[in-house]
Amino acid sequence: MAKALVLFSGGIDSQLACLILMKQGIEVVPIFFETYFFKGEKVKRFAEEIGLKLRIEDISEEHLKIVQNPPHGYGKNMNPCIDCHMLMIKKAKEIMEKEGFDFIATGEVLDERPFSQRRTVFEEMEKTLGLEGKIVRPLSQKLLKVSEPELKGIIKREEMLDIRGQSRKIQLKLVKEFGLKEYKTPASGCILTDPEYAKRLKMLKNINPNFDGNDSEILRNGRVLFEGKTIFVVGRNEIENKRLESLRKPNDVMLVPDFPGPSVLIRGFDNKIDEEIINKGKELLLNYSKKQNKDPLNSIKEITGA
Ligand code: SF4
Repeated sequence: MAKALVLFSGGIDSQLACLILMKQGIEVVPIFFETYFFKGEKVKRFAEEIGLKLRIEDISEEHLKIVQNPPHGYGKNMNPCIDCHMLMIKKAKEIMEKEGFDFIATGEVLDERPFSQRRTVFEEMEKTLGLEGKIVRPLSQKLLKVSEPELKGIIKREEMLDIRGQSRKIQLKLVKEFGLKEYKTPASGCILTDPEYAKRLKMLKNINPNFDGNDSEILRNGRVLFEGKTIFVVGRNEIENKRLESLRKPNDVMLVPDFPGPSVLIRGFDNKIDEEIINKGKELLLNYSKKQNKDPLNSIKEITGA
């Protein structure tokens, strides 16, 4: 039985790509490449919905370098989709060659996303990665060059589709035909496409172009305030307070009240966190606290060091 490695994001398109291939008797392995900005845990159930077990591969560190400096630039927000996809396909190619898969498939739809899903981008990617003819895009394959698996008769071109553009009408019709109950919209899992998060990440990049995964994570765990080269993150609930505490680095200062209120993480880049900065953090903490002690300033613990 022929085997396909299918890039799987959990979105309808990737589910449908798997189903179309499975209908042709292909053994499908859905693969998800996990990054700091898109975790695999939530995607598993979308593979289970179509009877498959999701394979998760962590590419966080390599992906982070692309987010810091994408050769093909960003999409609408801080999403470097062309280079991100290229990295994923490169990784998939390594796995395909090592483990004997026949081809790689994706749920990409021609012209669905003006930045990354264009014919020229597909062709450039295949050429750069030495994968010409080896990538099948079942949802648009009929509109693309004939692939190797079609030439070899592994898959039938006439059973591939010719979807093009941003309308999702045909996909929704197929969802009904295949009886899918759980599906999500494309890209809804990648936080780099979120305008609010992207704003924060851009500001982080401005003050620290070599930000690490931990820096990018604190930005999604509370209210964030930038002041010069310092970031203040105010937890919005118990889960975020705990999360911020676990993300604290030795040079950070963590403010924890002994009255009901948020924890505040203070992180400086190339600057020392002095008394003035700590007082600003305490002020923020008090602003977001409902109840306070009689002597609130002396009821806030300052945690720092290893
Ligand atoms: S939306 Fe996110 S995960 Fe998807 S290709 Fe773009 S950057 Fe990569």
